[in-house]
Amino acid sequence: MDNTVVTLHGVNDLRMEKLPVPEVDRDEVLIRVTKVGLCGSDLCSVYKGTHGDLKIGLPCGMGHEAAGVVTKCGQDVTHVKPESAHRRLPDSVSDEEGAVVEPLAVAVHACRRAVVWAGCNVLVTGAGPIGLLCLSVAKALGATNILITGKESGHLPATANTSSDIKESRLTMAKQMGADHTLLATSGDAQSQAQQVQQIMGCQPDITMECSGTKAGLTLGIYVTKSGGKLVQVGVGPSEVTVPLTHAAVREVDILGVYRYVNCFPIAIDLLAKKLVDVKPLITHRFNFEEFQKAFDMFHSAEDGAVKCMISC
Ligand SMILES: [Zn+2]
Repeated sequence: MDNTVVTLHGVNDLRMEKLPVPEVDRDEVLIRVTKVGLCGSDLCSVYKGTHGDLKIGLPCGMGHEAAGVVTKCGQDVTHVKPESAHRRLPDSVSDEEGAVVEPLAVAVHACRRAVVWAGCNVLVTGAGPIGLLCLSVAKALGATNILITGKESGHLPATANTSSDIKESRLTMAKQMGADHTLLATSGDAQSQAQQVQQIMGCQPDITMECSGTKAGLTLGIYVTKSGGKLVQVGVGPSEVTVPLTHAAVREVDILGVYRYVNCFPIAIDLLAKKLVDVKPLITHRFNFEEFQKAFDMFHSAEDGAVKCMISC
């Protein structure tokens, strides 16, 4: 067995390296990773060297959305501890689906922060992987009126191919994943977009899940969310953003932050095992491990409507 990794050494400097296979301690297991999904945050790390307020320490091993097989157990290991960072996948959940558990846990946490209830009206801004997963989880929790917008992507650079075809294809996917309405918000200011959203949904959203990490998404959320409603900031954008905060304050729109998740992996796995959420449509592109650069580049350019790129190891 060997231990080949992809490591980031600087902006747009990914290298494939061979490292020694780690020894397992008495209470550790060795996992051979089989599937890794690429994340928008990986793009920020690779192409910008930062993610939100976080500066990426170098060199940095890539791949935090992973599934694999335990190949070696330390002598004291009898079961997976509840507080462990790892979870056992039931047989009904594939390794590919398993590699989506991490971002799905983000969506679970965001929906729990927002307290999505049966029959509530939800706006999701941003139809990237996290926006689409938030949509699916909100739906599973009983939201009956969900609109998702496909205007901005926080991670795509200005040069990326963000033609309306690509955005349209993401919105088509959103429909497949259960969106009641989609809106390609390409023109107009936030206030006129808010009117459009309200018109399509037939009401103001009780909850807005901001998944684009952009000023535009956040501003739209502030204007459109119902008084007394909640706006959950899921997308990670620039560290300082100017928004009409008073508009939220005087209407008692609660703005909630989300930082990854806590205790959400078991819930995410259950949602998959019980077929309450289907993440398979999300996986648009598959690559071999040696093609990691191609996978990153394709995801970065959003070519071919790449949403979730999955690497087999
Ligand atoms: Zn991620």
